[in-house]
Amino acid sequence: MANTWGISIEVENFVIERDTHCVYCGIDFLIEHTSRKTKPTWEHIVNDIRINTKENIALCCTSCNASKGAKSLKNWLDSPYCRSKGISDKTVAPNVKNALKTTLEIRDYK
Ligand SMILES: [Zn+2]
Repeated sequence: MANTWGISIEVENFVIERDTHCVYCGIDFLIEHTSRKTKPTWEHIVNDIRINTKENIALCCTSCNASKGAKSLKNWLDSPYCRSKGISDKTVAPNVKNALKTTLEIRDYK
């Protein structure tokens, strides 16, 4: 799975191994990879393409990625999409929870 984000191969391999489920909705990529909506896509948890660390790079499904778009994680978690899917700061993967914690001080990240 090649990426065009300048993510290092070490981070890429680490994330592929860690994120076997969508970090947001929890869909299982191994079981549900056949559908286009559930295909894993590269995600910057904090929308800054310069942050290519394993803390900020994750795999999420196409649906979540399309819905999140350029929204900040916090705003997106309040969106109708997340509410309808039962996605909240309590249900996301541990790496996303960590990102939420560490970015609380950064008010105006995009
Ligand atoms: Zn998802």
